[in-house]
Amino acid sequence: FSRLVSGLSKSSSKLGESVTAIFTKRKLDREALDELEDLLIASDLGTAAALRVTDRLARDRFDKEITDEEVRETLAEVICETLAPLEKPLQLTGTDGPHVILFVGVNGSGKTTTLGKIAVKLKREGRDPILVAGDTFRAAAIEQVSVWGERAKSPVIKREIGADAAGLAFDALEQAEREGRDTVLIDTAGRLQNKAELMDELRKIVRVIRKKNPSAPHETVLVLDGTVGSNAVSQAQAFLDAAQITGLVMTKLDGTAKGGALVQVAEKFQLPIHYIGIGEGEDDLQAFNARDFSRALAG
Ligand code: GDP
Repeated sequence: FSRLVSGLSKSSSKLGESVTAIFTKRKLDREALDELEDLLIASDLGTAAALRVTDRLARDRFDKEITDEEVRETLAEVICETLAPLEKPLQLTGTDGPHVILFVGVNGSGKTTTLGKIAVKLKREGRDPILVAGDTFRAAAIEQVSVWGERAKSPVIKREIGADAAGLAFDALEQAEREGRDTVLIDTAGRLQNKAELMDELRKIVRVIRKKNPSAPHETVLVLDGTVGSNAVSQAQAFLDAAQITGLVMTKLDGTAKGGALVQVAEKFQLPIHYIGIGEGEDDLQAFNARDFSRALAG
């Protein structure tokens, strides 16, 4: 919990201090509620959650003296209620051959790093993953998956730059079946410049994987960069249009004042949240816990 608090300290200190600035011994009148609502929206929580916070305060405490501490408590309570139903560990239940997890997200979101951290975690838990360097457009991405493969002591399936990613994924599934591996983690390209092409490629990967196993991919995890704030909403929308996203990971919550965006994205699309990233190292991935997150964010 303390690592999450220090990780989210930028979000929480900004939000918490602003709450304090509004509510140091103050009556909860209309003006205070409006100021709070603006603050919450500016913190990327989204309008729906912001209104739930102010409505609850108005219902319980209107026209009474209120402290910043009490406001923060209500804020944490509402965030926790919103996210608790979406707290969902990544469950690897595939019984029809290797469990296939596709990782999607724009370049730089932390997709490859998250895939690598999950590979390390799975290996430690006694599973036998293989990693697939499916971003065939960037040499650095292929190399990065290889580095994570070494850290996870797990094989990496890769091809030369420019190779067909869907074909690579198909071959990886075949190899995983042949070698009796239980998990296939597939990285994908995330070029934002050419959205239509990117989304077509994702659809093609899914189509080709399904030829090998009709219920694969068992998970399609969307990785979002926690530092982009509300832009995460449009990114999520674009990927939801192209793929059947089954859950979220939000990264870089160790260095951002924009962690509130997780509330907005998860609520808007009702997407399960699996993990949060709180650093670049192999242990810097935490199972998502709504209560810890909301307390850390509310400060
Ligand atoms: P990709 O292009 O989506 O595959 O993104 P990468 O996995 O290459 O990550 C982009 C950069 O963000 C790299 O420098 C990572 O080390 C860094 N990164 C990824 N996750 C986190 C995180 O949770 N916290 C921090 N601080 N950096 C991260």
